[in-house]
Amino acid sequence: MTLTLKAYAKLNLMLDILSTLPNGYHDLFMVMQSVSLYDLVTLDENDSGALTVSCSDPAIPAGEGNLAYKAARRFFDETGLPMTGLDIHIEKHIPHAAGLAGGSADAAAVLVGLNRLHENVLDTRELIRVGSAIGSDVPFCALGGLMLAQYTGTLLSFLPALDFGKIVIVKPDCSVSTGEAYKAFDTAERVRHLDKSGMLQSILAGDLDGVYRRVDNVFEQFIDVSERVIIKGILRRHAASCACMSGSGPSVFGIFSSEADAEEAARTLRRSFKNVYVCDCVPRGIETVDSQ
Ligand code: ATP
Repeated sequence: MTLTLKAYAKLNLMLDILSTLPNGYHDLFMVMQSVSLYDLVTLDENDSGALTVSCSDPAIPAGEGNLAYKAARRFFDETGLPMTGLDIHIEKHIPHAAGLAGGSADAAAVLVGLNRLHENVLDTRELIRVGSAIGSDVPFCALGGLMLAQYTGTLLSFLPALDFGKIVIVKPDCSVSTGEAYKAFDTAERVRHLDKSGMLQSILAGDLDGVYRRVDNVFEQFIDVSERVIIKGILRRHAASCACMSGSGPSVFGIFSSEADAEEAARTLRRSFKNVYVCDCVPRGIETVDSQ
């Protein structure tokens, strides 16, 4: 059987780091939203006895180095089901190492897809447990929508959906190492923490202006992406309700109540940046598009 799934990117509407845990991981507070920028992941079951991963983007590791491969291996190890043969193909659209969780989304699509092909042998809790062993954004990507992710990112709470309008995402050409970003937090002398309870209250009250005022990312205090100021300036000049970096960067997004303003902002940004996307919010992380 062949199954094709959309694996949606995520944005961090809020990202705060509460502390460094004894094991070196970080205690996080993240409000995350799935957006309509997606990779297409195809799972092709066969009887070759081999597990393969190919990707349309040569910059992404194929085979064992791909998070999709790790997800498939883990699925068969955890369920004890026999792996008779599986070819995974990723048609990449989400820019990688961008703070948009593209790799985690692909891994989540493999877990959700294989689970579907095997009559939902894992329930949601088990899927989250297996996903968190692959990467801390994988459980969110498997569920998606608007969620609060805490602790290492794997403790998830559903939040009520909000009508955010259009979102413009820009991925500047530079890249940021997530490890270096956390090191910068660990060695920072001072951290300005974010208004987390205000953010949750605003979401629960459906107060969009309250949410926009609080959209923020603690990494912006430590990571210097030179294009960020320029991108935020352009987004704001085109009437974005807020503008912020996602994850450990370097992608920057702006939320617009007017589609025309969002399109105009994107047109302006495309004069200077290759990777500019106009997106909507989506209510889930993974969606099946075709099954044969
Ligand atoms: P996050 O927001 O979770 O920090 P990110 O958007 O910064 O994620 P990814 O796109 O997930 O980063 O990729 C990080 C690295 O993982 C890439 O540089 C790549 O080498 C490796 N990788 C492995 N599998 C994949 C995949 N399927 N897609 C993208 N990158 C992958």
